[in-house]
Amino acid sequence: MPSEQVSIKPGTSFEIREVGYVQSVRKFIVIAKGMPSCINGQIVEFASGILGLVMGFTEEKVQILVLGDPIGIRAGDEVYNKGKSLNLPVGEAFVGRVVDALCRPLDGLGPVASSVELPAFIVAPGVMDRQPVNQTLESGTLIIDAIIPLAKGQRQLLIGDRVTGKTSVALDAIINQKGKGVVCIYCCIGKPYSSLIKVIDVLREKEALDYVIIVSGVASVSTGEQYLAPYTACTLGEYFMNRGKDVLLVADDLTKHAWVYRQISLLLERAPGREAYPGDIFYLHSQMMERAGLLKQELGGGSMTFLPIVEILQGDLTGYIPTNLISMTDGQLYFSVGLFNKGVKPAIDFGLSVSRIGNKAQWPAMRALSKSLRLDYLQYKELLQMTQLRTAGLSKDAQGRLRRGEAISQLIAQDKNRPVSIAEQIIYLYSLNRGIFDTLSTAQIRQFRKDILSYAQANKPEFCQKIRQGKELNEELKAMLEEILTEYLKEGIK
Ligand code: ATP
Ligand code: MG
Repeated sequence: MPSEQVSIKPGTSFEIREVGYVQSVRKFIVIAKGMPSCINGQIVEFASGILGLVMGFTEEKVQILVLGDPIGIRAGDEVYNKGKSLNLPVGEAFVGRVVDALCRPLDGLGPVASSVELPAFIVAPGVMDRQPVNQTLESGTLIIDAIIPLAKGQRQLLIGDRVTGKTSVALDAIINQKGKGVVCIYCCIGKPYSSLIKVIDVLREKEALDYVIIVSGVASVSTGEQYLAPYTACTLGEYFMNRGKDVLLVADDLTKHAWVYRQISLLLERAPGREAYPGDIFYLHSQMMERAGLLKQELGGGSMTFLPIVEILQGDLTGYIPTNLISMTDGQLYFSVGLFNKGVKPAIDFGLSVSRIGNKAQWPAMRALSKSLRLDYLQYKELLQMTQLRTAGLSKDAQGRLRRGEAISQLIAQDKNRPVSIAEQIIYLYSLNRGIFDTLSTAQIRQFRKDILSYAQANKPEFCQKIRQGKELNEELKAMLEEILTEYLKEGIK
């Protein structure tokens, strides 16, 4: 019998499908058979419409991580492989939206219009595509901008115990990007739903939602989606970075991400290593961190700044995940429980915090003014401890340094969700270096901080504009600032 001829009309599109079947379901891991052409990172679809991600395979079996609720999947069900790797919709329309790990909207504002898709798992841009980071990312927190500055494209770890103000500092950085053309992404991983709602409320209150994308991988969604959420955030950010824009990405937090990956690996029966984490967790996170950076001008000069958050236990920095992440980022901000409980907020410990980018990224004006700030403050702390034992007979110099130190600690104390612009920080630091605070009481310094920016804007509106443009405190601006301060002090602090 002649074999049946299949004729395909020109222009007809057809889809290649490989159909396998589910052999077993182990929580959120499905073992399937009959898909010999599967490769890692590919996406498959179950008969119920739920998607799965290929995580590994043996000669006959494929290990699939379910990206959704595995309840509807039963042994014997069909699995379809279309030979596609995981691509996610991205684009401008996502700005201002809340989405899940598969970029589906969660905010009830209807579908997100998007015509572009990008792969979720990519190899990060190579060294030839990048340039050294050298532009300031204004965090809005004085202690960071003055002493541990951030640059666009930098990866800075926020590390600390539970409830030490990590999320607040990251949110301040987001709030401070208002009107600066930076697209912000907040990615929530393994946190309770209530924490995410709190974050959204703060951003809404500060009218920051319209330049933020929120990616939700909260604890109540499937393990697969929690695992995927930070990759989704990177992919959404890359769309803007590749178009020459600046992106700020906060991943809150990667400890939970590591836990999720540990769960997945144990169910995949991979050998547990240190602290029962699989060995490749280092590779996984470093690959993710590499996706941040500043692209070359020829590639648009876009940047993605990464602020991963890591939670530690009892100040222990030596755990596997924290040490991994410290080694693969460009610095860390260490949040101390001790400082937080003493009321020092933000509770960032100078001694253990560092930015390996250094002051290259700072505005020249800020660089000049904050040069001795760290040392002055540390010396003050030391002196303070000594004077607790012996109060009488302090030298004039020591008294002066104590007063200066007290002023510094007042300046670095900052309320949450109230970012301070760099122009304002420059006024503070200039006044500090001029010794203006040496003669003021605590209450007066507080009042000065409250008044001075609006006073400067009312009397010399061009000062803030010019300093923002030139970023340098030249003679003209110095004279202007002197005038502002003299006038302000002449009127007397109420
Ligand atoms: P978690 O471990 O729950 O994620 P966290 O380290 O992210 O905590 P936050 O949620 O940012 O910490 O802050 C913890 C608490 O401290 C919050 O109630 C917040 O209001 C308060 N807080 C944080 N920063 C400040 C600040 N600068 N001034 C006053 N209160 C603050
Ligand atoms: Mg937090």
